[in-house]
Amino acid sequence: MNLINLENASKKDLDIILNDCGWRQTKQRVVLLKTIFNGIDKHFSVNSIEQVLKDNGSFFSYTTLFENLNTLTDKGYLKRLTCDKRYFYDTNTSDHIHVFNEDENKIYDYEEYKIIHKDLPIPACLDLLKEYSLVINLKKK
Ligand SMILES: [Zn+2]
Repeated sequence: MNLINLENASKKDLDIILNDCGWRQTKQRVVLLKTIFNGIDKHFSVNSIEQVLKDNGSFFSYTTLFENLNTLTDKGYLKRLTCDKRYFYDTNTSDHIHVFNEDENKIYDYEEYKIIHKDLPIPACLDLLKEYSLVINLKKK
């Protein structure tokens, strides 16, 4: 896993990604990039990252944020996961299996989830599928 870390990135480093996305450098977009790409593997929805950005003093309209995240996805900086007709984004762009916990409305890496929830009847054969991109939707009956 090779995660982008822009936390201490120079203006020049940021410009490489901004130019690639066809964006001008604005304070808002710098906050966006530094918030998402802080070297930590994370999964988020438009709404959850909107809140984090707000806490960091940057306000985005839902539409602008959605468009920006999709541009970052198209350019290969993020991976988009579709789950229950909702979008989630992953800073780890390699193919790996996900578990969507509907009760928590949260998405996890399968590798992480199976360690925390040993009681869950996740089929053991999934260990053979590491190369694939797949989302398991968990829903309590
Ligand atoms: Zn993931």
